[in-house]
Amino acid sequence: MSECATGELTAMFRRLIRETGPISLLQFMGESNARYYTSRDPLGSAGDFITAPEISQMFGELVGLWLADLWSQMGSPERVLYVELGPGRGTLAADALRTVARFGLKPEVHFVEGSESLRAIQRGAVPGVTHYDDLSSLPDDAPILLVANEFFDALPIRQLLRTPGGWRERMVGLEGDDLVFVAGDKPMDAAVPEQWRGADEGTSIETCPAAASVMAEIAERLASKGGAALVVDYGAARLSPGSTLQAIRSHQKVDVFASPGEADLTAHVDFGQLSETAAQHGANLMGLTTQGQWLSALGIDARLEALQRQSPDNAAKLQRQRDRLVQPEQMGELFKVMGLSGGGWPKRGAGFVSQG
Ligand code: SAH
Repeated sequence: MSECATGELTAMFRRLIRETGPISLLQFMGESNARYYTSRDPLGSAGDFITAPEISQMFGELVGLWLADLWSQMGSPERVLYVELGPGRGTLAADALRTVARFGLKPEVHFVEGSESLRAIQRGAVPGVTHYDDLSSLPDDAPILLVANEFFDALPIRQLLRTPGGWRERMVGLEGDDLVFVAGDKPMDAAVPEQWRGADEGTSIETCPAAASVMAEIAERLASKGGAALVVDYGAARLSPGSTLQAIRSHQKVDVFASPGEADLTAHVDFGQLSETAAQHGANLMGLTTQGQWLSALGIDARLEALQRQSPDNAAKLQRQRDRLVQPEQMGELFKVMGLSGGGWPKRGAGFVSQG
């Protein structure tokens, strides 16, 4: 979409703020990302950022192996749904589905995707896919195998700040024509998770109400219909205080207010919060580990060797791709993998050392 459209979104925010006062970061991030994802294909070297499945086919293949293993342990039930949240270009799904097919698993494919332009690309990658705006309208008569890679980080967050007068929300206001952060004037203590309520003045934290509600829905479905879920994203088992909000455009960090709708706005995922929500809604936590550890445990090095044997000319390139996914200073440590199951499906999943 053109710069003119960015201008339109900025103008819309200015008008709104002038009319109604500062708006929540939730609203700013939600509307900016909705515009951003609908207007383009953001992935890949020509886009703004690159994700694990776009780096290497090994990623989706190992996700497929993980799913096929659990499905086989359940006696290979005939009807099962492959569900992916925010599938991007559909690359992960294509790689995973090709892998599970080798085990005889040919699930119905259901994608939750907000962007019309990405839906079109996904239909090319995975013919026959059905699209949804959210999880609520999925068929509910079968177990699910759910995958979400870099989906939760794109969901809108709230930032809360402990002021002398109590907790306040960090809002988006105007200084002249410029969008700026301002402190809200409404008490927000009720939106602060229990463990942060007594934090020192000056502490700021982030919450993601949308992530909690999506996770609650996943967990309830796992508990009632059975299945397993794999959530991969950058974040931590316990988020430290402070802002993790960032805007990425053309592989560079930019100011979050510079070009709403033209940059990808993301925040770190609070896996501690997600696992608590999952447990409260009846899912079993298989574990939380780093992407590097998980891919190694799933056998990425054996897969690398096989691919290198098939294509010796690409050996060095394949090695670099593997390193990018696994090395701690690259994606290996910052990215986490969380496994969940429910409804009588195995409590343990490959790659997770500990049980929740
Ligand atoms: N999983 C893909 C793409 C990650 S980018 C990959 O790993 O390559 C984030 C994806 O989530 C995009 O497909 C985007 O359109 C989708 N998305 C972001 N917010 C969404 C929302 N609120 N509802 C549905 N899809 C959303």
